[in-house]
Amino acid sequence: MRLSQFHLHTSKETPADAEVISHKLMLKAGMIRKLAAGLYTWSPLGLRVLRKVERAVREEMDAAGAIEVLMPSVQPRELWEETGRWQKFGGQLLKIKDRKDAEYCYGPTHEEVITDFARNELASYKQLPVNFYQIQTKFRDEIRPRFGVMRAREFLMKDAYSFHISDADLVREYRNMHDTYSRIFTRLGLKFRAVQADSGAIGGDASQEFHVLADSGEDAIAYCIEDDSDGSGYAANLEAAEAVAPGERPAATEAMHQIDTPTQKTCEEVAALMGIALERTVKSVALMGVDADAKPQFGLALVRGDHAVNEIKLAKLPGLGDYRLATEAEIAEHLGSEPGFLGPVAPKNAIRIVADRSVAAMADFVVGANETGYHLAGVNWGRDLPEPDTVADIRNVVAGDPSPDGRGTLAIARGIEVGHVFQLGRKYAEAMKCTVLDDNGKAATPAMGCYGIGVSRIVAAAIEQNFDANGIAWPEAMAPWQAVVCVINPKKDPAVAEAAEALYRELNAAGVETALDDRGLRPGAMFADIELIGIPHRVVVSERGLASGSFEYRHRRAEEAENLDRSALLARLG
Ligand code: ATP
Ligand code: MG
Ligand code: MG
Ligand code: MG
Repeated sequence: MRLSQFHLHTSKETPADAEVISHKLMLKAGMIRKLAAGLYTWSPLGLRVLRKVERAVREEMDAAGAIEVLMPSVQPRELWEETGRWQKFGGQLLKIKDRKDAEYCYGPTHEEVITDFARNELASYKQLPVNFYQIQTKFRDEIRPRFGVMRAREFLMKDAYSFHISDADLVREYRNMHDTYSRIFTRLGLKFRAVQADSGAIGGDASQEFHVLADSGEDAIAYCIEDDSDGSGYAANLEAAEAVAPGERPAATEAMHQIDTPTQKTCEEVAALMGIALERTVKSVALMGVDADAKPQFGLALVRGDHAVNEIKLAKLPGLGDYRLATEAEIAEHLGSEPGFLGPVAPKNAIRIVADRSVAAMADFVVGANETGYHLAGVNWGRDLPEPDTVADIRNVVAGDPSPDGRGTLAIARGIEVGHVFQLGRKYAEAMKCTVLDDNGKAATPAMGCYGIGVSRIVAAAIEQNFDANGIAWPEAMAPWQAVVCVINPKKDPAVAEAAEALYRELNAAGVETALDDRGLRPGAMFADIELIGIPHRVVVSERGLASGSFEYRHRRAEEAENLDRSALLARLG
């Protein structure tokens, strides 16, 4: 690729509204452009990187025996009614109508569609096991899209779904996918950990997440220092638990005003900040404030994980500002009259969060529990709120504690979830009456697994691990090009341009994916661009170099450039 004929559009300015380094650098490098909240255009440069990730994922999935399909992103309501998720999935589900008023959603995930495909396609156990995958656009109406493509609303996912005649075979494929994911992330050059996870909205029996380790990660994960990253040892997602320094407990008694920040907080973080204990757990909880006229002003859903909403200003609650807490009756009345807002509340589930310290303001802390999980996506017992004695135990760990399996010491790190493998069991197949004939000729419900990778999120996650003051430093497998040949003053000296052109062709012929920077920029500006966009190998062709028969070579991560002759250069890059 000649960069003079490519569309490179970098910027020196650091975008003000980008919070994390990957978002900043993707904008500066001109990899993505925002269309609207959570919607991004991938520029030609960004797309080259995205395609690299896609290719690695596709090749490893193919090698693991999965078979590629492509399903529609628009999905009919009727399918989602069959599994009950049209209601249950909550606000992340974007619902749309066609001209005939028929209802659809823009698929946030594809369990329903693949199960429908399977019940029509699969008739006999002889067709099993099978693992179908696709690389396709998803839409989730995230409460708080942020960090660019890291948490977008429209994003690219690889999702795979496997079907098995026995549970044992599902476990085999689950391990196969686990190992495949480890290969994918290793091949992409990422530092990652496989951690135990709760299966959340998707449901099912066992699940593990793959996290790229980065300080900006939204999740805190605990892992055993003595184990490697293959997931065989103890590692768990603490979800969005606060990162705590070694030996320190999360500050449970921090002032409530801390909650009044524009960031998401989980139920337990909020509870911890308020110094209260969650007396019992429910599927989801909503706090509501009312103003002086008893008019409901805001709702706060406190749930674990990414679904936590913190639009409410808790600092304005009773004793802390102009508002008081809604009473149980007010909550019931309001929520009952406006189910679309927070969902129907079953009064029997209304619970009281009790202070474990005596905080007067807390005595009236009433929460409404939402039985159906209507208002929030994927709110799940045990994931979105703690299961007594399990999650609490995990979440209270700090660095330096012994690992629960007794094999070593825990470290705590922050992670970005880039992959997730689930054993779904028969939940979807049963709900959708998907059966195959077993070897006795009897109808049997297949067991299912599902396996997701955030293809577009990986691009951002990789930058979080690979950058310096000058820009991105791509791992080899994800770089837009492996090498670039920079020409100094091509117009002035045709021999320099010719030598650069020849080297550019030679490197590409040798299988090194190489760009030619023939834009005619001054060296400073050219090198700044090349460093910003993170190309691993840079070769400079100049009049002076030619005269001495050498090329100036520099690796993106090297301190210094070195002069190499042609054969040494080819040997280095080949
Ligand atoms: P998260 O906890 O970050 O919200 P999730 O658990 O809801 O993710 P899954 O349903 O497990 O996501 O989907 C599979 C993968 O899709 C995730 O592991 C993640 O890498 C990616 N993904 C999920 N939501 C987004 C998003 N909003 N933007 C980009 N990638 C996403
Ligand atoms: Mg999510
Ligand atoms: Mg998650
Ligand atoms: Mg997940």
